[in-house]
Amino acid sequence: MYPQGSNNIQLNFSGLGCWLTVIGLVWLLGAAGLGWLVKSIALLFVLLLIAPIAAFFGFRWWLNRNLIEGTCPVCQTPLTGLNQMTTACPNCQTPLQVTRDGFQRDTPEGTVEVSAVDITEDGEATTVTVEVLPPVEDDR
Ligand SMILES: [Zn+2]
Repeated sequence: MYPQGSNNIQLNFSGLGCWLTVIGLVWLLGAAGLGWLVKSIALLFVLLLIAPIAAFFGFRWWLNRNLIEGTCPVCQTPLTGLNQMTTACPNCQTPLQVTRDGFQRDTPEGTVEVSAVDITEDGEATTVTVEVLPPVEDDR
């Protein structure tokens, strides 16, 4: 198939011979003043190896920072969400805003939230005490 010569011997190299060829090529490139090329390729190779690991740990770190666990302020259902995300409670369908402190009702601007804190029946008159809740902090 191949004409007899050095070319034929090189093609028959396998395993260790292949590596020797690579090392020889690297040495040759280095000797030819192309060491920077070898270094660049090596650096690229290392980066390719590290990139997925770095991405994995970066994602883990990001998730750790942004994954918020809390409960629905309306029905106390345990919820998990990402920071700054707007979601709805699967149990009571309340629109919720995920903040660093937990889940808050995603109330439109100008909504005044009140909470009944005390209901006393005094004879015939019923007194209802309400507490005006502070508006939802919006730091988006
Ligand atoms: Zn709920």
